[in-house]
Amino acid sequence: MNYVSTRNNEVKVSSAFAIAHGISVEGGLYVPENIPVLSDEEFAALSKLDYKGKAEYVLKKYLTDFTDEEISHCVNGAYTGSFDDELPAPIAQLGENINILELWHGPTCAFKDLALQLLPYLLTTSTKKTADGKKTVILVATSGDTGKAALEGFKDVDNTEIIVFYPSEGVSPMQKLQMDSQKGKNVHVCAIKGNFDDAQSGVKKIFTDSEIKNTLAQNGMEFSSANSINWGRLVPQIIYYISAYCDMLSKGDDLSDGFNIVVPTGNFGNILAAYYAKKMGVPVNKLICASNANRVLTDFINTGVYDRNRDFYTTMSPSMDILISSNLERMLYILADGDDKYIAKLQNNLANEGKFTVNDDVFSKLQSLFYGACCDDEGTLKTIKNTFEKYGYLCDTHTAVAINAYEQYLNNTGDNRPVIIASTASPYKFAKSVLSALSCDIPENEFDTVDALTELTNVTVPTPLAELKNAVVRFKDIYDKDDMYKAVCNCLKIN
Ligand SMILES: *Cc1c(COP(=O)(O)O)cnc(C)c1O
Repeated sequence: MNYVSTRNNEVKVSSAFAIAHGISVEGGLYVPENIPVLSDEEFAALSKLDYKGKAEYVLKKYLTDFTDEEISHCVNGAYTGSFDDELPAPIAQLGENINILELWHGPTCAFKDLALQLLPYLLTTSTKKTADGKKTVILVATSGDTGKAALEGFKDVDNTEIIVFYPSEGVSPMQKLQMDSQKGKNVHVCAIKGNFDDAQSGVKKIFTDSEIKNTLAQNGMEFSSANSINWGRLVPQIIYYISAYCDMLSKGDDLSDGFNIVVPTGNFGNILAAYYAKKMGVPVNKLICASNANRVLTDFINTGVYDRNRDFYTTMSPSMDILISSNLERMLYILADGDDKYIAKLQNNLANEGKFTVNDDVFSKLQSLFYGACCDDEGTLKTIKNTFEKYGYLCDTHTAVAINAYEQYLNNTGDNRPVIIASTASPYKFAKSVLSALSCDIPENEFDTVDALTELTNVTVPTPLAELKNAVVRFKDIYDKDDMYKAVCNCLKIN
C-alpha cells in the first residue's frame, strides 16, 4: 500500500517513509491510497483474538512494507506490560446502550498511550528501512497529554532525542508535573509563552524549514513527528475502534442498525481513526464530534465554514483547546475524493486568512457523516456530576464533554442506537476540575485533591499518577514562542 500527500498526490511513499518523515515536504499529510475493508468473517475471527492479535491483523493491512516479524515485534513491545491487566481498551457500560470505551489504562493515563506506546517501535523499524542511519529528533507540540505520552514512549529509545513544547499556562498541574519530572537520557521538555496553536505552528515551521533541516543533517540528525499528523500515530487508533466493535459483538449487543461513536475532539486524530474503522466495515452510523468552548469544529460541521478567527478559551478540558485541527485535512482530502489541489487551496486560505469554506459536495458529505456539538465548562461540570449521580461513574472533563454532546444528540434526534463514547483520560488527571463538580471543598495542593476525590468517590487512583507525589522536577525552562528553534538548538547542543 502506498501513501500519498494530501496536497500533492504525485508524492507516493511507503508506510515506512511516511512514518519516518511524519509530514510531506510541501506541508501535506500522508494518507493511505485506499482503505482496506474487512469482511464479517474477518470481524468474527478477530473477535476471538486478544488486543495484540487484533493489532497485528489491522497493522498488516496498512503497513504492507513491514514483515510479519517486524509487526509482531512492534505490537509485543508496545502492548506487553504497559496497560492495566493487558487490556488497553476496556468498555464500561452505563445503562443499556452506552458503552464507555476507556482509553486511559496506559502509563500516562490518557488515550494517547495507545498510539504512543507503539509509535517508537514503528518509527525505529521505519528509519531502519529508510536506511539513512541518522539520529531521529522527535519534536512534539502538546496541549498536555501527547507530550507526556510521547516522552514515556520514546524515553531511552536508541538513536532518538525527543523535545516537547507545551504552553506554560495551558496544561493541568498534573500534566505539568508529569512532563517536568520525566526521566530518561534523551528527553527534553520546554514550556513556551503562548497557547497550543502557537506551539504547534512553531513546530510545523521548524519541520518545514529547509535551512534548519540542513543544519540538522550536518549534525547527523533528522526531524520526525510524534504528533497525530504522523500516520504512525493514527493507525494504532483504528485498532481500538475495531476492538470495541468486536467486544460489542461478543457480548451480544444488537448492532443490526449500527451504532454511533462520540469522540471528544481536538486535533481530529481520534475521530478520524473512528472514520477509518467505519470505512473498514465497522457499522458506524454517526460520528459525533464533541468540542468544548473552542467550538470551531461544531461550527464547521454545522455551516461548512472553518474559521479560526475567534477568541481562544483556556478550558478545563485543555487537550481540546485547539483552533486548528490538523487532521481535519485528511478528512477533507477523503471527502473531496482526493482532489489535492483543492486541499492545498483550502489550507492556503487557512494559513493566510484563518478560514476556509468547503464546497456544497464536501459539505453535504460532512453533514451526513458527522454531528457536531459542544459544551462549555459549566456544562462539563454538570455532566460530571450527573453521570456520577446517575450511574456511579466518574469521568474526566474531556469525557464529560463527549457525554454532554451525546445527550444533545439524543435529545435532538431521538436516535437511541447503541453508542460508544471515547473516554480519553483518567478523572485523576484533572482532579481539581472533577472534584469541583462534586464538592465545594477543594484543597490547594494537587495531591490532597486527589485524596479528597478518592474519599468522595471510592474510585482508585491509577498508579502512575499516585507515584507522581514523589517526583522530582527536572525541567524548568520557559521560552518565548518565537524562540522555539533556539530551544531546539540548546537541547541538541548545536548552533
Ligand atoms: C488529545 C486528547 C483529546 C483530543 O484528541 P484528538 O485526537 O486531538 O482529537 C481529547 N481528550 C484527551 C484527554 C486528549 O488527551
